[in-house]
Amino acid sequence: MTPELIATSSIIAYLLGYGLLCWTHPFRRCPHCKGTGTRTTLLLKRITACRWCHGAGLRLRLGRRVYNHLRRVTRDATTAQGTRLRHHDRAGRP
Ligand SMILES: [Zn+2]
Repeated sequence: MTPELIATSSIIAYLLGYGLLCWTHPFRRCPHCKGTGTRTTLLLKRITACRWCHGAGLRLRLGRRVYNHLRRVTRDATTAQGTRLRHHDRAGRP
């Protein structure tokens, strides 16, 4: 095996593993609140909801976010209905 083949196959294996992880577990623990959903303010040390996860304690993985964006772009490009509903209300007004 050549080093190029080993590097390419390891990159492909990593991407397949990450894709599988994003498919089976689309959410990860919020790194800002460590999954608790709460944070303390700097000055008064009051407990508030985390502004990154809005108190849920979970965040969408980057790979899943990219997948959702690409799926949305594909849907909008293939159907005129999706584009019209995103940018206009039901009566067709912008
Ligand atoms: Zn959070």
